[in-house]
Amino acid sequence: MKKALNILRHVVQVSVLMLFMLPLAAQAAGGIVPGAGSFFGTLASSTILQQIVLADPFAALQVLVASKELLAPVLLTGAALVLLLYGLLRARIFCGWVCPVGLLLELVDWIALKFGKKAVEKTVLDRHVKCAVAGCMLLLSALVGVPVFELLSPIGALSRALALGVTTGLGLLAAIVVVEAFLPGRLWCQSLCPLGGFYELFGRLGLLRIRADAGCTACGSCKRVCLADPQILDPVIQGTAQAVCAGDCMLCGRCIAVCPQQILHVSLRAKCDTDAPPATSNG
Ligand code: SF4
Ligand code: SF4
Repeated sequence: MKKALNILRHVVQVSVLMLFMLPLAAQAAGGIVPGAGSFFGTLASSTILQQIVLADPFAALQVLVASKELLAPVLLTGAALVLLLYGLLRARIFCGWVCPVGLLLELVDWIALKFGKKAVEKTVLDRHVKCAVAGCMLLLSALVGVPVFELLSPIGALSRALALGVTTGLGLLAAIVVVEAFLPGRLWCQSLCPLGGFYELFGRLGLLRIRADAGCTACGSCKRVCLADPQILDPVIQGTAQAVCAGDCMLCGRCIAVCPQQILHVSLRAKCDTDAPPATSNG
């Protein structure tokens, strides 16, 4: 039961992948894949039932600053819808539940651990660096007049490969995979991805949080599996907060699955303040 959230998350990740692959699968099968016409696009922008347009809000922002013109209403609405949905839940839920690069890197991590890589409570680079990278991408987009991260993005490259069969631009993704396999920590998702940095800025607003009940023994198991940054669990372990409130939390549920005390769970608007009752009882 405690692994349920993590299993559900992997089901969602794989379902999203398959959704993006529908048009290619239909093409390969001579157009006879049920529901193939119901979805088309990439993570940057897609259409559901040929009516509802969804757009990546960070991509839309890059287009806005690059073109210096108001976006088409349909794109603006699509980006606002996506930001509202993720923002209401927990903005980095995109990273943990939707992003195909996140899924790929979890798979790489799982294989590397089987071959002797150690699970460590380690952050190679400060997690907020990715917010600065997001800012730099916007600045560069404004300067050169093109949405820069959309040209370089490993997420876009993988998404285009799945949706359209276009395999150009996968070089950065290959480099990220190699780094993930050999370096401790999760350098790309924790500290470098500008899309993760953009969503981190909205992350504290979400309604859903990981809450800790009393009984933490400070064993550190949760920190060793955290997809975002081990440090974001420190306030609940030290008993200075009821919930993980950092904007970085992806609500992946891995901490829930490994906690031997079974004190972690998803909660609606659990308190972050230091006046909250302490969770630790190890002292
Ligand atoms: S705190 Fe828990 S739910 Fe949040 S990213 Fe870390 S492991 Fe996942
Ligand atoms: S929350 Fe659970 S897994 Fe994390 S340190 Fe406390 S007892 Fe260990």
